[in-house]
Amino acid sequence: MNPTYSVDPGIQLHFPDSPLPRIVIVGAGFGGLELATRLAKGPFQVVVIDKNNYHQFQPLFYQVAMSGLEPSSIVFPLRKMFQKKPNVHFRMTVVEEVDTAAQVIYTPLGTLSYDYLVLAVGVETNFFGNQHIAEKAIPMKSVSEALYLRNTLLNDFEKALSTVDAEARKGLLNMVVVGGGPTGVEVSGALAEMRKYILKKDYPELDIDEMEIILVEGSPRLLNGMSEKASKTAQGYLQNLGVKLRLETLVTDYDGEWVTINDGSRIRSKKVIWAAGITGNKLKGIPDNCITRGNRLVVNRYNQINGLENVFAIGDIAYMEEEAYPKGHPQVAQVAIQQGRNLAANLLRLGKSKPWKVFQYKDLGSLATVGRNRAVADLPGFRTTGAFAWFIWLFVHLYQLVGFKNRVFVFFNWVWNYLTYDQSLRLIIRPRNP
Ligand SMILES: Cc1cc2nc3c(=O)[nH]c(=O)nc-3n(C[C@H](O)[C@H](O)[C@H](O)COP(=O)(O)OP(=O)(O)OC[C@H]3O[C@@H](n4cnc5c(N)ncnc54)[C@H](O)[C@@H]3O)c2cc1C
Repeated sequence: MNPTYSVDPGIQLHFPDSPLPRIVIVGAGFGGLELATRLAKGPFQVVVIDKNNYHQFQPLFYQVAMSGLEPSSIVFPLRKMFQKKPNVHFRMTVVEEVDTAAQVIYTPLGTLSYDYLVLAVGVETNFFGNQHIAEKAIPMKSVSEALYLRNTLLNDFEKALSTVDAEARKGLLNMVVVGGGPTGVEVSGALAEMRKYILKKDYPELDIDEMEIILVEGSPRLLNGMSEKASKTAQGYLQNLGVKLRLETLVTDYDGEWVTINDGSRIRSKKVIWAAGITGNKLKGIPDNCITRGNRLVVNRYNQINGLENVFAIGDIAYMEEEAYPKGHPQVAQVAIQQGRNLAANLLRLGKSKPWKVFQYKDLGSLATVGRNRAVADLPGFRTTGAFAWFIWLFVHLYQLVGFKNRVFVFFNWVWNYLTYDQSLRLIIRPRNP
């Protein structure tokens, strides 16, 4: 037992006795879920651990934040996922530490031994060590944060109605988005559409033109991972919607009221959305020589962590060099899903004296949307923008959503929004403070 670790007496993770080797999968995101479902019928006892009891569809967080979708439409209960899979056991807890020599993990529910361990823990927001920004800015890495943003946005509009000081009112209305990747671009576009079509109608007593949406990006262009054409088109779309772009600009500080920019200027805003960086979720006990840039875990082409034969990492947390990706794969859902699939196939080959297959990423393309009929798509073989790209974006996201009910709900929501220009989810529902 790790001496630094204590658990309440009477609590201990336990599972039915089984002669099968135990595979523990930490994290039920895109990678972990794909792996667990594919191993369900294999000769293993599969234990899935996640700190939430649901799987989250991160690409649509921003639509929850902008009152476009209910949170329940983009999350899926893990217990439902594993209902008819007797070999798969789920526990909701946090893995805090790993002992690779003793082959155990440590959680607040006790220790658990494994035969094979798969880390699919993803990443968290990177504030680059700025404590003020970490405390005051709003990240978008969980559905709870998306809901928090929805509440804060609507709450600030309610406050703005009774704020007579013009400067303070501007602070309540303004929104600064930091990071010009897909998340920053999508949030800014959705906000601008909300301002144009909805907030004007909901708050006729406010001068909505006072509201500024400012997108700050450190590099000279938006959507760095996509083509020049996609970047330029997205930039044009945002400017048409009235988003102010500040490229080659860095946010250096934020005190909850004022955003400080690296040229010394300041912007008044009660809300800063931080979509500027990610870093791997850290687990104690992983040897230092397995960790690289961005806190990613170095794996070989079989997703085995450096020097650890029975410990694997997949998805955003894994750093694998491939000929076409000498600096590692992009941290996107398809990489996680494909790695989960490949690792499942390899683990199912155990004991069959069949050789393992190396992982090879098949890039299915990149998409980003700025609003209705406005999207950019870099797909294998062709690039497109506008309404056609937007329809591809809608289809791909619907297809990837977990759960039939979620797909139906999201589809009807989108159709409704498209026809009416209006979502009716602008509710401020706060958690109860005991
Ligand atoms: C706002 C946003 C928009 C995005 N949009 C896109 C997009 O349009 N297209 C795209 O391809 N990708 C997109 N991504 C990236 C994509 O979501 C990730 O690449 C993908 O989720 C990675 O999958 P994963 O399985 O590695 O990790 P995740 O899906 O992040 O899953 C990690 C899981 O591990 C759990 N976990 C973490 N630490 C612990 C712990 N210590 N103990 C127990 N459980 C733990 C978490 O609760 C989570 O369920 C977006 C990401 C964000 C945040």
